[in-house]
Amino acid sequence: MKILVPVKRVVDANIKVRVKADGTGVETQNVKMSMNPFCEIAVEEALRLKEAGKATEIIAVSCGPVQCQETIRTALAMGADRGVLVETDVPLEPLAIAKLLKAVAEKEQPGLILLGKQAIDNDCNQTGQMLSALLGWGQATFVSKLAVEADHVEATREVDGGLEVVKARLPAVVTVDLRLNEPRYASLPNIMKAKKKPIEIFKPEALGVDVTPRVIVLKVVEPAKRNAGVKVPDVATLVAKLRTEAKVI
Ligand code: AMP
Repeated sequence: MKILVPVKRVVDANIKVRVKADGTGVETQNVKMSMNPFCEIAVEEALRLKEAGKATEIIAVSCGPVQCQETIRTALAMGADRGVLVETDVPLEPLAIAKLLKAVAEKEQPGLILLGKQAIDNDCNQTGQMLSALLGWGQATFVSKLAVEADHVEATREVDGGLEVVKARLPAVVTVDLRLNEPRYASLPNIMKAKKKPIEIFKPEALGVDVTPRVIVLKVVEPAKRNAGVKVPDVATLVAKLRTEAKVI
C-alpha cells in the first residue's frame, strides 16, 4: 500500500510572526520556513507504518512555490521514498489544495492519505475534510492513535471531553493530532541520501485544476497588546477589582 503525505511549508513554529507593514499578510521574506509540525507527525506515522510492514511506499507532496521542494526534502530525509511538487506562485486556499491533492491521488492510487489536522499558519483545518469529500473516501480526523488493517483503519479521535474510536474502509483520509507520535530527526546520512531521491514536478494546469483564489483577505492585523498584570495585596482587593474593573463577578 502506498501512503500519500501532503506536507505544507509554513513559517517556523519558533519564529515570531510579523504582519507586513501594509497589512496585506504576514512577512515571509527572510523568515525561517519549516514543515508544518502536524505534517511532520503525519510523515512519522507513515514511516512507522512502513517499518511495521503495513505500507510499501511513502510519497510526500507539497503544493506551492518552488521552495516547497525544501519541505519535501525534509520529508525525504526523515525517510519518505519520493516527492511530488505541485508548483505555483498563486496563493492557495484549502479547496484548491484539496483539488490538487485529489488529482495527485488519482495518479498515485494510495491506500491512505495522511495529513496534518491543520496548518499552523492559517489554522484552516479544512484540507483533509475537503479532500475526503472530493475523493468520496471515508475520513478520520484529529487522530491520536491509528491501527491499519488489511481493508480498514481503526482510528482514535480526540473529541471534546474524550476519545472516539472510528473505523474507515481503505482507501481513507486521516488527519493527525499532536499526541499521535513524536517525529524523528533526520540523520546526516539520511539528509545526504534524500538529495538523490526523486521529486516529480507538476503545474496545476497539467493536473486540470483551477487554483484561482475565491477569498479576498481584506486586512491582517497584529493582536491587541496585552496590559501588564498587577499584584494585589489581598483577596478583598482581588474581589473588588474583579467586581468593579474586570466586571466578571
Ligand atoms: P489546513 O486545512 O490548511 O489547516 O491544512 C491541513 C493539512 O493539509 C496540512 O497539515 C497538510 O497536511 C495539508 N496541506 C495544507 N496545505 C498544503 C499545501 N500547500 N501543500 C501540501 N499539503 C498541504
